[in-house]
Amino acid sequence: MITLAQYKKMLTEFAQQGHVSRSISSTREQPAGGLFLKHDVECNIERAVEMAQIEADCGHVATFYFQADLLDTEAGKDAVRQIGKMGHEVAYHYDVLDENDGDFAKSEEQFDHYLSVFSAIGHNIRTVCPHGNPTKVRNGWRSNKDFFKNDTIRKKYPDIYDIVVDFDGRFPGGIYLSDAGYALRIIGDIGGNDASNASAMADGLPIEWSSLNSRLKENESMILSLHPHRFVASRAAALTRKVVFKVLKQAYRIAGKIPGVSKILNRYYSLARRV
Ligand SMILES: [Zn+2]
Repeated sequence: MITLAQYKKMLTEFAQQGHVSRSISSTREQPAGGLFLKHDVECNIERAVEMAQIEADCGHVATFYFQADLLDTEAGKDAVRQIGKMGHEVAYHYDVLDENDGDFAKSEEQFDHYLSVFSAIGHNIRTVCPHGNPTKVRNGWRSNKDFFKNDTIRKKYPDIYDIVVDFDGRFPGGIYLSDAGYALRIIGDIGGNDASNASAMADGLPIEWSSLNSRLKENESMILSLHPHRFVASRAAALTRKVVFKVLKQAYRIAGKIPGVSKILNRYYSLARRV
């Protein structure tokens, strides 16, 4: 975990070396390759705007995947507009299958609704990203990824691609790095690691922030998937957040083994996205 100031320093160095991030959807018109900054915005829209500004100041174009319910408020819509005006791609971090307990018809309805909400504020969605819920109990679907793996859904939205489900096809030879779990990791199988919550969480090889530079090569793709709400202003705050996360993770592991408790945790699964 790094601070916003450290992030700015890193982005400045990337740009000085000629590694400038472009939008995920630009790979529709141009071949993949180079750096892609990607963010899943789960909460804390102010922090997302702050990151967007830093990136724009350093000359990078990022892609912000917004949880759609953030657009239910005017403040959320304003943040989306601001980030779009800075030149970044606005995209959809969908949670429809988990939110509708695997019901495809309800999921489709909700997905359509939010596409129109994005569209009404000037952003036609071109790429999407599924949200992972580590505490969701599922029966009949593996994760939100199943939504865009479904043939009917795929045919219905030919102008949208999924950065996670379609990663191997769209970014051959590329690497996908994520700060899910508070440690930066290279994910081995981002599109298919969802056999269980445990397998999704276990997928990844740790990598130091300081070694990112040496991994960036002109013709290969590097997707850096980062959660804005996990970036803090100071190193002390970063350490505190990391400790809180570890304690919660351990508490969840213990609580999940007590009969009945996993059902309660499942009911409040969406709270986990704020951690
Ligand atoms: Zn997410």
